[in-house]
Amino acid sequence: MENYSEPIDRLINELSKLPGVGRKTAQRLAFHIINMDSNDINALAKALVDVKNEIKYCKICCNIADSEICSICSNDHRDSSMICVVEDPRDVAAMERTKDYNGKYHVLNGVISPMDGVGPEMLKIKELISRLGTGEVKEIIMATNPTIEGEATAMYISRLVKPMGIKVTRIAHGLPVGGDLEYADDVTISKAMEGRREI
Ligand SMILES: [Zn+2]
Repeated sequence: MENYSEPIDRLINELSKLPGVGRKTAQRLAFHIINMDSNDINALAKALVDVKNEIKYCKICCNIADSEICSICSNDHRDSSMICVVEDPRDVAAMERTKDYNGKYHVLNGVISPMDGVGPEMLKIKELISRLGTGEVKEIIMATNPTIEGEATAMYISRLVKPMGIKVTRIAHGLPVGGDLEYADDVTISKAMEGRREI
């Protein structure tokens, strides 16, 4: 603690829990906030609380949605025989930017990571398996990031899905190892999808 007054110390402490925000940045933000107009501070605080309370997740693909079923799952023009499995909603946005993929998605909400205490039961894997019973899905494209955890998660899901007679593919490694799908450019993502191979 820097021995500012208690409310400032508390704000600095909360801000420093955000990713990429160190102690110094948290202090700078805190002192910016205390000089802000009251209306702006109220709007910021309300946005923070509302985002958690009002956010909805699609009942089918687990992506962030405006309604119970997201616009991709409810779109009849999208190919229901393919499901592209990604780590988080930002990956769906990255894939959609390429405009190359016309199948459906499934958002896992993370990857298996024993180091971080994340087991398969904490991801949306059950929800994925429950989508596969109808025989409509012919291919699962594993588009988790090319990290150790992303690979392990792809293999784990592949072992569950293959006995169901569904093809499982893995996107190609035009993506840098250890890289992040979200930050890849459109061409790299398109190439990675094109070059996917069966696992
Ligand atoms: Zn959906």
